[in-house]
Amino acid sequence: MNPDLSISKIPGIGRYYEYKLRKLNVNTVEDLIYHFPFRYDDFSQIKTIENIQTEEIVSIQGVIWQIKNIRTRSGKFITVATVADQSGTVEVVWFNQPYLTQTLKPGMQISLSGKIQFEGFRAKLISPSYEILRSSTSQIESNLNQVNQDQTLHTGRLVPIYPETEGVSSKWLRGKIAKILPVYLKNTEDFVPKQIIERQNLAGLTNALNYVHFPKSQDEIEKAKKRLAFDELFLIQLASQLRKMNWQKTKTAPKMKVDNEKLAEFIQLLPFQLTGAQKRAIDELLSDLKKDTPANRLLEGDVASGKTVVAAAAVFAVHLNGYSSLVAAPTEILAFQHQQTLAEILSLHGMTVGIWTASKKHKGDVTVGTHALLNNFKPEKPTGLVVVDEQHRFGVTQRGRLFINQTTKFSPHLLTMTATPIPRTLALTLYGDLDLSILDEMPKGRQKIDTFVVPNAKRNKAYKFIEEQVKSSRQAFVITPFVEPSETMTSVKAATIEFEKLKTKFSNRVKLGLLHGKLKSEEKESAIGKFQKGIIDILVATPVVEVGIDIPNATIMMIESAERFGLAQLHQLRGRVGRGRHKSYCFLFTESQSPNSLRRLKSTEKIDVGAELAEIDLKMRGAGEIFGLRQSGFVNLKIADLSDRNLVSEAQNEAKKMLEDNPNLKKYPLLSQKLNKLKSEYIRPN
Ligand code: ADP
Ligand code: MG
Repeated sequence: MNPDLSISKIPGIGRYYEYKLRKLNVNTVEDLIYHFPFRYDDFSQIKTIENIQTEEIVSIQGVIWQIKNIRTRSGKFITVATVADQSGTVEVVWFNQPYLTQTLKPGMQISLSGKIQFEGFRAKLISPSYEILRSSTSQIESNLNQVNQDQTLHTGRLVPIYPETEGVSSKWLRGKIAKILPVYLKNTEDFVPKQIIERQNLAGLTNALNYVHFPKSQDEIEKAKKRLAFDELFLIQLASQLRKMNWQKTKTAPKMKVDNEKLAEFIQLLPFQLTGAQKRAIDELLSDLKKDTPANRLLEGDVASGKTVVAAAAVFAVHLNGYSSLVAAPTEILAFQHQQTLAEILSLHGMTVGIWTASKKHKGDVTVGTHALLNNFKPEKPTGLVVVDEQHRFGVTQRGRLFINQTTKFSPHLLTMTATPIPRTLALTLYGDLDLSILDEMPKGRQKIDTFVVPNAKRNKAYKFIEEQVKSSRQAFVITPFVEPSETMTSVKAATIEFEKLKTKFSNRVKLGLLHGKLKSEEKESAIGKFQKGIIDILVATPVVEVGIDIPNATIMMIESAERFGLAQLHQLRGRVGRGRHKSYCFLFTESQSPNSLRRLKSTEKIDVGAELAEIDLKMRGAGEIFGLRQSGFVNLKIADLSDRNLVSEAQNEAKKMLEDNPNLKKYPLLSQKLNKLKSEYIRPN
């Protein structure tokens, strides 16, 4: 069977289901085989009727004695059956499925799985899954209580539950997959080389696919998941490593000499001491510059972690080699800011920092600019380094290449900077072709924002504290619950209600302001302006509202229903305070009682590195939940868990090793084929 055969060609599927299956991204036979369960119902406990107990989930097998439909007074149907095995009888009930009496007939041998309930002494099975074992009574006695898992698909075993769509139930999918899988496997060879399978202790592909759909044990599920997850990660890594090789092969970068003495002097003359993380990042970047393959590095660090000086060191090293640099910023304001910061550091060394935006244009040894750089900028000296500051924008990888002339073989080195806390594991997967430096250490003297998870019982104490702070002329933010990713009336309402509530609470002792996205822009500016001037003491705001304003006098960040936020999001919000000289605090209010949820929130009390918090969220909530990745179609993994550091890095190592020995994969045609097929499936930002 051709794995790419259209699913409509399979008997019993046809056009009708083809259309429905498309909604599940199932178009071919192979897609169906790779439509994995997201969980399993454990119906593997098989009992005789005399041994069943209330509330337990069990499977029984027996003969239908009688079955009939009863119509209730409200006109609904209840199907009631009596099923017997050698040890006793049980009553089985289904609701609103009167057609069952057409399939299930007295005398049939049946397998049932579901929850037992007792009514007095009578055991009842309510709405169980069922399947017919034999439609005649002939052989019943011989093996009535002997259950063979291979006989059943929907009962009496670990039963796979799949993503469904209207008209396509898990039961339907199970039936089809059970039929097609053996045929598919007969024509399938393992595309992962043997030595990798052995080294990584992986299940073979045939086993893994059998196990994932029809496991006989929890252990088989684990084995299947590990193997199939490895495949996904391994293929993504191969694809990105190939992209990297390709990029490096087609481009030559200027090989720089690093003048260690001059750089030491440069560092000496900085107005502060570099953090260890900054030193590390500078070293990594400088060793990139020494190569004639173009660097493609991502520098990740929270706001104010000091990324600019890392870039400046590289710009300086490049300058010493007679090349110029470009620094691209997303907005004009940021470009001006960068120009100023860089000038402070670099003019000491006789460098001029140019600017190139819509409104201002002059060139320097290094030129900072916006997208305007793309249009009509011609550097006086060849460009050795391009730095792209993405600030908070997500989708950091490829944009930088825009600033690089695609038509020449010559390419500058590329450094992308981001303040978005992307966990290392996620970055390794999504940006496998980038080298990564993380600034996981804040400059000395930065104040730590004391963070407290506040349960309901301590809420009033927190309000008192806020009032005291206001009395001593400090200010506070109150952020209302995260309701949905985009601002709608629901979040506006939440903010308005909170505003009114606090008004009553503090009466006229405290001046309150309200800020949300549905305000007119004059109203927004007025609210922010008043807060800046200290006319407002407490600003109540929705989470999506851009509070990227610098209010050095604000010392308190209070967040309502904090459990609804991602940790990285909480971290970015609390970064709004602690910008002045006053001690600052963050209160996370929650009514959640869930130990997991509280543990998650409490990690903000101890950890103050965005990337670490994001990593915790990745582990506890999955990639889709953080950064709204799923909505953006950003991560298209079916089975791999991106928080599995080990597997992610093993997959990366194996991919690297593979390509070192076989850069064109000629020896592995199956792998190569698979790779070409899957390339388009994994969406990544551009
Ligand atoms: P970001 O990572 O947000 O781009 P910046 O590079 O703008 O951060 O740095 C924020 C501020 O911290 C700047 O004023 C910078 O001069 C200062 N800074 C950077 N590194 C250090 C350090 N090691 N010690 C003290 N201050 C530093
Ligand atoms: Mg910056």
